[in-house]
Amino acid sequence: MATQKPFEIAIVGGGITGLTLAIALHHRGIKIQIYEAAKAFGEIGAGVSFNANAVGSMKICHDEVYDAFLKVRTRNLWPKKEKVWFDYHDAFGDEGEELETSKLVYTIYSSIGQNGVHRARYLESLIHLVPDKLCHFNKRLKNIVQNDSGRSTLQFADGSTAEADAIIGCDGIKSNVRRLLHGDDHPCAQPTFSHKIAYRGVVPMAEAIKAVGEERASNACMHLGPGGHMLTFPVNHGQTLNIVAFTTKDEDWTSLTGQSSDKLTAPTKRRNAIKDFAGFSGDVQRLLKLTAEDLDIWAIFHLGDNPPPSYAKGNIAILGDAAHATSPHHGAGAGMCIEDSAVMAELLADSAVQTREDVEVVFATFSEVRKERGDGLVQSSARQGRIYEWQTEYGRDFGTQEAEIKERNARIGEVDVAKLVEEAREVLRTRLKDR
Ligand SMILES: Cc1cc2nc3c(=O)[nH]c(=O)nc-3n(C[C@H](O)[C@H](O)[C@H](O)COP(=O)(O)OP(=O)(O)OC[C@H]3O[C@@H](n4cnc5c(N)ncnc54)[C@H](O)[C@@H]3O)c2cc1C
Repeated sequence: MATQKPFEIAIVGGGITGLTLAIALHHRGIKIQIYEAAKAFGEIGAGVSFNANAVGSMKICHDEVYDAFLKVRTRNLWPKKEKVWFDYHDAFGDEGEELETSKLVYTIYSSIGQNGVHRARYLESLIHLVPDKLCHFNKRLKNIVQNDSGRSTLQFADGSTAEADAIIGCDGIKSNVRRLLHGDDHPCAQPTFSHKIAYRGVVPMAEAIKAVGEERASNACMHLGPGGHMLTFPVNHGQTLNIVAFTTKDEDWTSLTGQSSDKLTAPTKRRNAIKDFAGFSGDVQRLLKLTAEDLDIWAIFHLGDNPPPSYAKGNIAILGDAAHATSPHHGAGAGMCIEDSAVMAELLADSAVQTREDVEVVFATFSEVRKERGDGLVQSSARQGRIYEWQTEYGRDFGTQEAEIKERNARIGEVDVAKLVEEAREVLRTRLKDR
């Protein structure tokens, strides 16, 4: 364990960002406390997949973050698909064509192939890496007050308070820290509906094989069509198949579900998912029939229309979805969260950073070096979602789709995070010298 630094950081929110950051900082001798709104850490029972940048970032955060991932990750089950990210299929065909099975149209590769994990399993392994005494539950941050001493007071919904030298908001897409940073009236206070929704399910692999055959069930697949697409990849060491079926809706979220945008899921029935994918291939239909009869619709909100003007001000910073909540069409939102944690941890651990004032320079540096990449992911992901659903100038031209997706994925997923950290450190040192 590194020598302790003389400042203390409050982390607000214990999702994948808050936990990876907490582990990374704890092992670098930085005093932290985590304040989580829920009564326990938790994740949903769906899958999440990670790109090379995410895996590189885990290693930088701490070996144990990477080891926890290795224990739960599932790759494509066929060795010859080791480097396949997704096999892309035409799941709709030409107008009026009825496809019994989706047709393979192109494959996107990645240096590490497909790496899916069951979210809840991965989070459980991370939780064990954070000492209990640093975690505080039922602590919903309401407000932050700056003290004369230069420290800040966090005020929670239960009436309690806590103090810290600096605050890092890892409180997700509906971040209150982002709202406090930029004001209630700034448009970034409220993420917007991308007009895409998702149906999600995790189904037994044996059933999935019966539905679509061994190759498509055992390896990551994307099924494309007009106004909808479905992705599948194996999780739980190949025992289950993760299914996410996206579709585009003209209505806004409230007219669609009767729910306010405070709640990002709404109950629905499997038959509605099947109806939304009418005209799609038999593969898509059969997979949807395997999902539970009672499903949730997931609203895809993002910050694409209104990115925050900065990721930090003074002694407050935002990381992860709090800073760059994205639609999931790159499969890279959580990966970017871990990348944030890696960069922030390395900057705070720099030997030149010793005081609260230095921490503020770190936060300003973080905002400078991370904003283009974070906001860029949000834009790129929205575009990728439209390509998948034939809503761009390419329509159903698979050649142009493939070329653009290949380029976008490399830009987001195939970066050398250690190099990003080095570049960030250079900016930090210049800022510390010039202040
Ligand atoms: C359908 C779908 C599929 C996805 N698939 C992928 C994928 O394959 N790959 C990928 O990389 N990403 C994927 N993502 C994106 C990924 O899920 C997110 O980017 C990531 O989970 C965000 O993590 P986070 O920790 O920043 O936020 P969250 O997971 O939202 O965690 C925020 C935490 O803060 C707490 N909190 C909130 N408000 C407060 C408060 N006021 N005070 C205290 N605590 C608070 C919450 O309770 C929560 O625990 C997907 C997203 C969706 C919707």
